[in-house]
Amino acid sequence: MTTPKTILITGVSSGFGRALAQEALAAGHRVVGTLRNPDAAAAFEALAPGHAVARILDVTDFAAIAPVVDEIEKSVGPISVLVNNAGYGHEGVMEESPLSEMQRQFDVNVFGAVAMMRAVLPHMRARRAGRILNVTSMGGFITMPGIAYYCGSKFALEGISEALGKEVQGFGIHVTAVAPGSFRTDWAGRSMVRSPRVIGDYDGMFDPVRLRRQEVSGKQLGDPLKAARAMLQVIDSDVPPAHLLLGSDALVLVRQKLESLAVELERWEALTCSTDG
Ligand code: NAP
Repeated sequence: MTTPKTILITGVSSGFGRALAQEALAAGHRVVGTLRNPDAAAAFEALAPGHAVARILDVTDFAAIAPVVDEIEKSVGPISVLVNNAGYGHEGVMEESPLSEMQRQFDVNVFGAVAMMRAVLPHMRARRAGRILNVTSMGGFITMPGIAYYCGSKFALEGISEALGKEVQGFGIHVTAVAPGSFRTDWAGRSMVRSPRVIGDYDGMFDPVRLRRQEVSGKQLGDPLKAARAMLQVIDSDVPPAHLLLGSDALVLVRQKLESLAVELERWEALTCSTDG
């Protein structure tokens, strides 16, 4: 058993956040979980009275984030680990998806996560210790048609995560971007925001993609409890990775992407280098 830690996880009502909270509690840690719904908050605290602590927070309420984090530090205890888990998927062909949907996708998946990190960093930096896990996605490395805004948000969080890790490594703070493949959570079910279909030209390309995602929802390969155990291993590791893929589907697809990128770089190498001097 490792030393008990206080772990702050955003979005513990279902999916990865709930699974990680449960596994962390079972391992003896204290979990402060954020939720948006007061009934869900009470149910969360009932999981382990005194050890499961709920705070109501929508991560797009940017002004509320630092006060909530400061209050947790004072009344619950020093936050050893932040897990930016809260997020959702927007699905829609880009041409059919209004900019307001992109704004919302980035507000939750990117700006919310960054606001959380900016709020915990002064405390972690003062202690010269801390762990941050950002739940990104294999969609932060590879892309698929119909989730351009989602992939954009996860590519952004991957990049921010990696750069931040370089900025804070001297302070004993480790940052890991955790990129899951397809898992059995509410992601493609109740949580997904789907822009309506309006442009017939995309029917042939996109309708089967949308249908397939609805059909496999709840039957995906990945087990969120196993993902939670993997994240706990990262939290316990002395040398955590900057990036961790979860799931063999993610591994296959990201490897394919890296291989095809290497081939493309080589094919265009002469033109790439022609601009020097
Ligand atoms: P989920 O079961 O739908 O859980 C999402 C959680 O995020 C819920 O607790 C939800 O709270 C919370 N949330 C959403 N918007 C929020 C906001 N504005 N403020 C605060 N909390 C918010 O899906 P999940 O798969 O576990 O999602 C967790 C993370 O994993 C997401 O970042 C997702 O993109 C990522 N991910 C999932 C998969 C997958 O296959 N499942 C793959 C790669 C990455 P409410 O209950 O209030 O809605």
